[in-house]
Amino acid sequence: MRIAMISEHASPLAVGGADGSGGQHTHVAELAAALVGEGHDVRVYTRRDSAVQPESVGTPDGYRVCHVPAGPTLRVPRDELLPHMGEFGRWLAGQWRDGDWTPDVAHAHFWMSGLATLHAGRRTGVPVVLTYHSLGSVKRRLSGARETSPPGRVGYERALGRAADRVIVQCQDEVGELVRLGVPRSRMALVPAGVNQELFRPDGPVAPRDPARPRIITVGRLVERKGIQDVIRALPAVPDAECVVVGGPPAELLPANGFARRLHALAESCGVADRVKLLGGLPREQLGRWYRSADLLVAAGWHEPFGLTPLEGMACGVPVVGTNVGGIADSVVNGLTGDLVPPRDPRALGTAVRRLLADRVRRFAYATAALDRIRNRYSWKRCAEQLSSVYATVSTVGRPAPAVA
Ligand code: UDP
Repeated sequence: MRIAMISEHASPLAVGGADGSGGQHTHVAELAAALVGEGHDVRVYTRRDSAVQPESVGTPDGYRVCHVPAGPTLRVPRDELLPHMGEFGRWLAGQWRDGDWTPDVAHAHFWMSGLATLHAGRRTGVPVVLTYHSLGSVKRRLSGARETSPPGRVGYERALGRAADRVIVQCQDEVGELVRLGVPRSRMALVPAGVNQELFRPDGPVAPRDPARPRIITVGRLVERKGIQDVIRALPAVPDAECVVVGGPPAELLPANGFARRLHALAESCGVADRVKLLGGLPREQLGRWYRSADLLVAAGWHEPFGLTPLEGMACGVPVVGTNVGGIADSVVNGLTGDLVPPRDPRALGTAVRRLLADRVRRFAYATAALDRIRNRYSWKRCAEQLSSVYATVSTVGRPAPAVA
């Protein structure tokens, strides 16, 4: 099949650890590669945000990235992109109607891509599949007045869920959230994303560490909802352990980062500053050695639409203590592949981490079961196979073209 993937702000060419480039870039890049592996012809459409970007570029993984001229040719914060989605959608429609490549299905990532894709799909008869990645209703509940999404996001997300041919949900929690929003369950397909098991595996180089000191690792952007501050608050209950924090801007830019400074100050006031190491953002290729160097991974998010980092840790054979939210509640099976604790509860987190660090046998059992779960449930190949059958059921192949001008 010809598959278009639309990811307006998250280019698969920008995968990395810099602030703001999180899971969606990685998701789109690895999914596109896995779909090529299934024999599909894949193009990823992302907004052109630099004058040096070519119109389209092939990747070593076999898919093409097309840079869509919509809005200024420079980086624009994600939350300010909405006014350019009409132009994005019109450009897509023009290409798919008049160009030499019309997709059989278009898979939009994030709600703003959904708007542009639906616009183009309506005008060309291309069916639309949507993955939200995150939901405005959840962000609003968590962030309240600090929520920076454009007003109306929740309404758009509801309308999109009703209009798209299929909504791909990534975890059970998202199913409930969307049902409450008014999206019919019959439109949803639950297809968890995968984890890169070549990059993240139990064998391979290990970052240096002090063998006498237990190591906890937590990986994520330096933003409040990742709960890194809760991990630091939990540390006094975990004597001796060091906590390695990976994520945010690269190390040399950390001193200028307000959130990193707040974490340092918090560590000082909790009396654990000598046990907290902020490494800054690292290239993904370097993460495996850090995961493998840890005795356990903590994923303390207040909410996690999917959560790649706990899965990456599990794929490296590291047991996880996670919060019982979003995708983490699906990937970590409590008492079998890790421990789940309530979010925003440093006391419960500290107790779970201390208990698990004191029990080598249980850590080994969790790690073994976690690896098994990753291999069975979270491979990109499995995800691409499941999506292929979703695409086939909504595809235009064999469907009459719509009578739209
Ligand atoms: N990541 C990275 N370098 C870092 C920190 C994170 O490459 O220093 C990657 C990490 O491997 C994962 C992604 O960024 O693939 C984060 O995805 P996740 O779903 O955990 O969180 P999001 O940022 O999407 O909220």
